[in-house]
Parts: sequence; C-alpha cells; structure tokens
Amino acid sequence: MNRRGMRETLVIALGGNALIRKGQAGTIEEQFANLKGPMQQIARLSMDFRIIITHGNGPQVGNLLLQQESCCDVPKLPLEILVAQTQGQLGYMIESTLDTEFMKIKGAQSKQLVSLISYVVVDEADPAFQKPSKPVGPSYPEGAVDSLPWPVVKTANGYRRVVASPAPVTIVEKQEIRKLVAMDFIVICCGGGGIPVIREERGFHGVDAVIDKDLASARLASEVEADVLVIATDVEGAALSFGQPEQKFLRHISCVQAEQWLRQGHFPAGSMGPKVKAAVQFVREGGKRSIITSLDAICEAVSGTAGTEIRKHGG
Ligand code: ADP
Ligand code: MG
Repeated sequence: MNRRGMRETLVIALGGNALIRKGQAGTIEEQFANLKGPMQQIARLSMDFRIIITHGNGPQVGNLLLQQESCCDVPKLPLEILVAQTQGQLGYMIESTLDTEFMKIKGAQSKQLVSLISYVVVDEADPAFQKPSKPVGPSYPEGAVDSLPWPVVKTANGYRRVVASPAPVTIVEKQEIRKLVAMDFIVICCGGGGIPVIREERGFHGVDAVIDKDLASARLASEVEADVLVIATDVEGAALSFGQPEQKFLRHISCVQAEQWLRQGHFPAGSMGPKVKAAVQFVREGGKRSIITSLDAICEAVSGTAGTEIRKHGG
C-alpha cells in the first residue's frame, strides 16, 4: 500500500530486448517467445500492484524504415506515423501475451488490458532539434551518404540517419491513464517514448523526432504519481566500469551518487545513461524508488532482491 492507502502503482519500461534479443533475426515467433518471460512476471505482479507498461520500439521502427526504403511505389511515411504503427503492433503483442499468461495463473481473475496510442509533447525550442543525435533505421555504405536527404552519423556498421531526441515535456493522455489505472486496468502506453508532438495553439502536430522511452516513462510515472519505476533491460543493473575487468554492478544507490557516476561517464548516452537519468528524475520528482533490472528478474527487483535500486538517500 502507498501513502494514499492504494495498492502501489508500478511503471514497467520494457527495453527493445523484451521483443528482439541481440543476434536474433526478429521473426514474429521470436518476438512472441521473448515476451513470455516478462509477461509471466507482470501477470504475477498485477495481483499485488497496479501496472502501467511502456516499451521501446527501436528494432520495429528500424524494420519499417527498411521496408519503406525497399519499396518506391508507395508514398513514404514520416517517423511519427511509424511510431504510431509500432504502438499498435507492440500493444497488441503485449496484450495478447499477457492475457495468455493470466490464464495460466490458477484462480486468478483476469485483468482488463488497454493499449493507448500516446502522444508526448516536446518543446520546439529544445536544443536537441539543432543537434540530431539518435541513430534510426538501416545502415548505409559510405557511397550512398551524399544522396540521403537527412543528416547521418558514422557507426560501427556504416552510416545511419540521425534524428533529434528532444526531452518529453508532458504526456498528453495522462488523465486518461490515471483514470484507467485507478479502475484497475493494466495500461500499455508511451510505446517507443510516445509520438512526439508540438503544441499548436489548442492542437498538436507530430514532428520527425524520437523521444527516449526511459525518459518518457519517468515523465509518465511522475505525472500519474506512480510509486515505483522499473526499467527492464538485458543486463542485471547499472555497473561501474561496465565491460572492464573491474566492472561492478550497483545494488542500492542514492540520486547524488548516481549523478556523480553519470558525470564521470560510467553510464553512456544512448544506453545506460538515459536509464540512470530517468531513474533519478523520477525519484527527485517524488517517486519512492526506481529500479534498473534484467527482464528475467522483474519480480525480484520489485521485491528488493535484484537490480540497481535508486532512492533519494540510497539504501
Ligand atoms: P534497452 O533496449 O533496454 O533500452 P539499451 O541497449 O539501450 O537497452 O541499454 C542497455 C545496455 O547498456 C546494456 O546492454 C549494456 O551493454 C549497456 N551499458 C552501457 N553502460 C553500462 C553500465 N554502466 N552498466 C550496465 N550496462 C551498461
Ligand atoms: Mg535504450
């Protein structure tokens, strides 16, 4: 129970690996099989907690971009539409897998699930629009770069298009999400960090950008006054000197410690950096705790026996 006398609300952010593991081709059978483990755990957690699920979409949007590139007969769609497509696709896959896992829990009442197409407001003046930094879609050989209509970045596997990754300002559907969660729905939302939109008087219009899903999840968690933010990925937590012989996974840390290690470069941009930033941001904005954990240990992380837990004053 939380201080409002309600069951605690968890926001669980699933990394891209929840669907496609490193080295896999990403067939639909693989994606459904990968979802099983995390959904089994979420089904169990939903007996004791209210749940909101968010998810990444990098590989799925990448595949849609690749499909567009290989077909010239159909008009190309902008990124905002591709993000909307993946919210529908992944929402369906998560819902149906979770539903199947509920059926397997003896005596459990099945929960009502809902996937929301979510927009997230970004600021037109965000400096990220001047410095596109997030690689998306396929890699191109050096020779193709000059004919591409967008900025690119050189990566280990060739050149990739880069887009702006502005900060999430607010989740447009936050009131709807709050109400659904209060009614005990499990809500799947903010997929791929949400569809980035800019306010235009009383309306919104989509922009060609992507929002980091961990930062969007932290924003959402604060806005719906969730109790715990769980960021589930393919490593057991955040480590100091990651990949070095002296690597050390962290268990209980404070916001101040996390920020210090961030500044020292232990958590790089584009992978562990945004997770630690999101975790700190949520706790600073009043969340009880954030946990970065492996997809296989979501339940243990929630019960305090796995993952890197970030609290205001450590533990
Ligand atoms: P997701 O798809 O879940 O968002 P990312 O690939 O963006 O996952 O981030 C997780 C990756 O971050 C891990 O697979 C790991 O290789 C990398 N990483 C970089 N630095 C660290 C660190 N300090 N501690 C743990 N993992 C790290
Ligand atoms: Mg990531």
